[in-house]
Amino acid sequence: MKFGSAKDIWETTLGELQTQVNRANYDTWLKASTGQSYSAGLFVVGVASPFAREWLEKRLRSLVRKTLMGITGQDLDVEFVLRSAGDLETHEVPAGETKTRSTPASSPPQPARSSRLNPRYTFDNFVVGDCNRMAYAAALEAAENPGGVNNPLFIYGGVGLGKTHLLHAIGHLGLARNLQLLYVSGEQFTNEFVAALHDKKTSDFRSKYRNLDLFLVDDVNFILGKEQTQESFFHTFNDLHNACCQIVVSSNQPPQAMAQLREKMRSRFQWGLTAHVEPPTLDTRLAILEGMAERRGADISPDVLELLAKRIERNIRELEGSLNQLMALARVNRAPITREFALEALDDSDMPRPAPLSITPPRILEAVTAYFNLTPQALAGRQRNREITMARHIAMYLLQEEGNCSLSEVRSLLGGRDRSTITYAHRKVASGISSDPALHEHVSALRHQLANPSEPHARRLGRQPL
Ligand code: ADP
Ligand code: MG
Repeated sequence: MKFGSAKDIWETTLGELQTQVNRANYDTWLKASTGQSYSAGLFVVGVASPFAREWLEKRLRSLVRKTLMGITGQDLDVEFVLRSAGDLETHEVPAGETKTRSTPASSPPQPARSSRLNPRYTFDNFVVGDCNRMAYAAALEAAENPGGVNNPLFIYGGVGLGKTHLLHAIGHLGLARNLQLLYVSGEQFTNEFVAALHDKKTSDFRSKYRNLDLFLVDDVNFILGKEQTQESFFHTFNDLHNACCQIVVSSNQPPQAMAQLREKMRSRFQWGLTAHVEPPTLDTRLAILEGMAERRGADISPDVLELLAKRIERNIRELEGSLNQLMALARVNRAPITREFALEALDDSDMPRPAPLSITPPRILEAVTAYFNLTPQALAGRQRNREITMARHIAMYLLQEEGNCSLSEVRSLLGGRDRSTITYAHRKVASGISSDPALHEHVSALRHQLANPSEPHARRLGRQPL
């Protein structure tokens, strides 16, 4: 693939990074970034806030650099800079910080808590079909009459089907009505809680999560398996619900299927309304693509849109990714997006493909053993040198995060280990990926492998077989 401007290169890089970092981090730190310039071996990325710059600099620099080098085929360095206000107008800008009553006006926004609302994720931009009608109607109702009949509103469904979009849409309406609201992901809630425990600031933490009109929690499933966090979430939920705050949560599973959810929490999740978002039909996919093309000012013929809609069935984010790629390719090649061009571009191996295989526990174990050059017996066995222990911890983490395995499933897959060992391994990897670049690299490579099953097995470089 041939590339032109920094903008095009960065768009492709983002597509790649999306499969390598977890969703919350991608949305919070990368999504709104832009390719600013590329020359003399230096690639400059524009970011919207000093927090994003610091976070990317500390945590993702090497991965971003490596990905950029892979895409450009050049050795280069990467720099993160703050975009100027003028720049911001032409790019996707995070909406104003969400706010809480208890945050003093003078305090700087905290990145972990002040998650941003994507300006594109509005009710207007949400295409309604049979697959999501109920979730849409309930979300609108929750935003218009917070604390009413659907409290809490529990939205669940697979990846890339519009859960976050709906939560942000509620947030936009809430902000327009001056409601006190907080949007947070399950991961952010967890990280903050753990940090508050560590810093002995749990009362500050508690007060931040009180006095709200709207509490939006994305990917609440993240708190599963984290007992103290779940307990803290339970209290937050109760206090807010008692105070008639509208609570909306999203999850990858319905409450009854969340094996590690405490019974008392499960029953509260079921107090209000549970709405499922399902994969869209071809008609809805087409309508979504039309809307996306229109908002990008692209005049793309219906048969090209249909080509995309037919290829990608189960994930609207992938649908959007393929449209973006097609447009970027057409821009770079200065070619009109004809059916022939699209067919050729879609056959390019760099284009995102619908994942033919879902992420199953056996695939995860296979990827980890291949990556660390281990036998399955060694992975599940009792040998405890540093390398094998790390591989085992990563397997435990990925089985829970990517394979949605419960503790007892992980236990039976990996040699009947104690639950506390599995919980410990999860916690260790979850915190290690932010602070340990090597661990981050391993987990990213494995996540990439799982998302791209047709690629040859990723292998850890530069070491002897275990
Ligand atoms: P989830 O949170 O369920 O994983 P997202 O809300 O992030 O999924 O949606 C993925 C992408 O697809 C987003 O860019 C979103 O705007 C878009 N999208 C999802 N559902 C719809 C829809 N019904 N209409 C328009 N765009 C949608
Ligand atoms: Mg989401």
